[in-house]
Amino acid sequence: MSSGPATTEGFGSGCFKGAVADKYLSKYGESATLLANGNWTKDMAKADIVAKAVLDWAVDNGASVYCHWFQPMGSSGVRHGNSGQVHQSMFDFAADGTPFYSFTGEQLLQGETDGSSYPNGGMRATHTAGGYLSIDPSSPIFLREDTVFIPAGFVSYNGDALDEKTPLHRATTALDKQTKRMLKAMGYDVGSASVYANIGLEQEIFLVPRHAYYRRPDLQFTGRTITGKFPARGQEMSDHYMAPISRATAAFECMRQIQQECFKMGIPLKTRHREVAPNQYEFAPMFGNAISQVDQNLMIMQIIEEVASEHGLAALLQEKPFDGINGSGKHNNWSIGTSDGLNLMNPKQVNAKTGNAEIFPLVMAAMVSAIDKHGDLMRLAIASPGNDFRLGAMEAPPAVMSTYLGPSITEFMNNVKNGTLGTYTPQKKPLNFGTDSIPSIEVPAEDRNRTSPFPYGGNRFEFRAAGSSQNVAMVNTVLNTIAAEAFGIVADRLEKGDKALSIAQDLLTKHDKCVFNGNGYDPEWPDEAVKRGVWRIDAGCDAINELDSAKNVDLFEKMGIFSARECEARKSVLLGHYIGSVEMEALTMIDMINQHVIPSVKRADLGNPGKLNDAVKTLKGAIASIHAAAESDEHKAAQIARKMRLETMVSIRDVIDEFEGRCPPEDWTLATYQELLFLD
Ligand code: ADP
Ligand code: MG
Repeated sequence: MSSGPATTEGFGSGCFKGAVADKYLSKYGESATLLANGNWTKDMAKADIVAKAVLDWAVDNGASVYCHWFQPMGSSGVRHGNSGQVHQSMFDFAADGTPFYSFTGEQLLQGETDGSSYPNGGMRATHTAGGYLSIDPSSPIFLREDTVFIPAGFVSYNGDALDEKTPLHRATTALDKQTKRMLKAMGYDVGSASVYANIGLEQEIFLVPRHAYYRRPDLQFTGRTITGKFPARGQEMSDHYMAPISRATAAFECMRQIQQECFKMGIPLKTRHREVAPNQYEFAPMFGNAISQVDQNLMIMQIIEEVASEHGLAALLQEKPFDGINGSGKHNNWSIGTSDGLNLMNPKQVNAKTGNAEIFPLVMAAMVSAIDKHGDLMRLAIASPGNDFRLGAMEAPPAVMSTYLGPSITEFMNNVKNGTLGTYTPQKKPLNFGTDSIPSIEVPAEDRNRTSPFPYGGNRFEFRAAGSSQNVAMVNTVLNTIAAEAFGIVADRLEKGDKALSIAQDLLTKHDKCVFNGNGYDPEWPDEAVKRGVWRIDAGCDAINELDSAKNVDLFEKMGIFSARECEARKSVLLGHYIGSVEMEALTMIDMINQHVIPSVKRADLGNPGKLNDAVKTLKGAIASIHAAAESDEHKAAQIARKMRLETMVSIRDVIDEFEGRCPPEDWTLATYQELLFLD
C-alpha cells in the first residue's frame, strides 16, 4: 500500500460509530444514538438490527468475517500482540449448499471459545475448558481488511475474569460509584453523566531492518538482544531524538501508513516522532476513555507490527531490546473525568464547574493517600519481564512509587495540611527568546519532571514507568481501584459529617511522604524513600507476589474487582509468564552460543572457547533449578530466574561480546548492533 496523507475524510470509516453507524442503522429505522449506552444489548430485537447494520457495513467494505476480540490475561505484546480472536464467516448455507450473508444479534452479542490453551491460573480444569465471550458495547467495533472486530470480555464458566478487560470494567464501575458519592457529599451532583478514567498512551517502539532481525534468534523469540557488542556509536549525540523522519528511511513510509490505518479505524494517532535511541520511535493518540484507549492501543501495536513487516522492517515492542541505549515505555497519562467534560484533575475547571474550591484539594489528597498505600500494586502493574531492565536500579524511572506534584501545588497542599485553604492558580510566565524577531511565548511557570514514575502535570498524572509491550489494562485497573477506594473513604467521612478540609488534612498528614519533587534518578533517593516508608520493590516478581497479600485481596474484594481466587490465579499467571519468558531467553542464549558464537570463534581462530562451553553448562543448571523450584513455589522460581537473567546471563554476555569485538564481520553470523541500529 503506498500511502498518501492521513486525511480527516477517511477518519473513522473503519469504526462502527457516529456517522458510519448512523448511515447503516438508518436503513432499519435507528441511528447511532442507539449505541450511546449498552441498553441495546439487552434487547434481542435491537441487537438483530445492529447485527444487520454491521453486516451491511462489512459487506460494503469487503469484509465477511467477524470475531469477538478479547484480551487474554497476562499476555504481552512482544510477539503478535496481546489479543485473542477466532474468526467466523458472516454467511450461512441454504439447504442446497448456496452461501448467503447472515449475521444475527445473538452472534454479535456473545461467543464461546475453547479457551483451554490460555493461561488461567488454575481457574479452569482442562476438562471444563470453556471460555465465554460477551460484547463490550462501550468500545467501538472495528473493521480491518476482511474482518470485523467486536471487543469482548472473556470469563470462565464460573464468571472468573480470564482477561484484562473485564477487571478494567469492574474498576471503572467502582470509580464511577465512589467518585459520584464523594462529589455528591461535596454538594456537586454529576446527574446522568458517568465518571471514568481518560488516558493517553505514548507508545515507544524500535523499527529495525527485517533482514537483520532474521539473523537474531533472540529478537525473534524473546523480543530483546541477549548478546551484542555495543557499537562505536550509541545515543551520545542525541541526534536521533526528534530528528527528521527522512524519506531516505523505510521508517517514513511505515509511520505514515501506520497513522493512516489507525485514522481509518477512528484511532486518533496524532503524534509521531523519533525517540532518543537509534531506530526508536514514538506514537501518541489524542486521549480518551480508558477502556477504548486500551483496545485501540492493542490494535495500534498489531498494526505497527504488520505495517513494519510490509516495509522491510521489524517492529520491536519489548521494553529493552538493546543494552546500553534507552528502552521503550508506554507513558500512561491518566485523569478522571465525567462524560460531560469535567476533568477532576484540572483545578481551574473543577473550581469553575462545581463552585466548590475544596473539591480539588480533596481529590489530590485522596490520590496521595492511594499512591502511598498501594504503591506495591502500582509497581506490580508495570512488572512486565522487559521492565526488569528499566526499573529498580537498572534504568530510570526508579522502582520507588512516589509522586511529583511540583513546587506550587505542593505548597498549596502543605497549606491544606496545616488547615488553610489557599488559592491555587497555575501560573504562567513569559518566555523570551532574546530577540525581537521571534515572538515571546507564555509557558507554565513550573518545569516538568521526567524522573518521577507518577508525576502530576497540571491536568493529569503520567504513569511513566509502564512498559512498551504491556496491555495497560491492569495499570488502569489498579489506578481506578485505588482511586475508587480513596474516594470511597472520603465519601464515608463526609457522609458522617466530617469537614472536607479536615479529611484532606488527615490524609496528607498520614500519606504525603510519597510526594517527592526531587530528582528521582538521584542514587540516594531509593534508600531515603525506604526510610520514609514509601513503597520500593526493585524486583518485578516480588511485586507480583504481593497481588494476593491480605491488604490487596481486601482492597480488590471490597471494590468488587477481584475475588481472592482471582488474585491468586492472576498472580500465578503473571509469575508463570515471567518464568517462561526468562527460560526462553536462557534457552535462546544456549542455542546462540552453540550454533553461532562457538562456530564463529573457531572459524576466526579467536582462541579457546572453553568459557563458552562452561557458560552453557551453567545455564542448563540454572534452568534445572528454576524448574525444580517452580514445582512448589513459583515466586521462588521467579526470583531464581531473575538472578540468572540479571547476573549470570549478563556475565556470559560479556564473554560473548568480547569475542564479537575481535571477530571479523564476515565470520560473525549474528546481526550486529550496527546492522540493527544504524542501517537504514
Ligand atoms: P509528552 O510531551 O508528555 O511526551 P505527548 O503529547 O507525547 O506528551 O503525549 C501526551 C499524552 O497525554 C497524549 O496522548 C495526550 O492526549 C494525553 N493527555 C493530555 N491530557 C490528558 C488528560 N487530561 N488525561 C489523560 N491524558 C491526557
Ligand atoms: Mg511524548
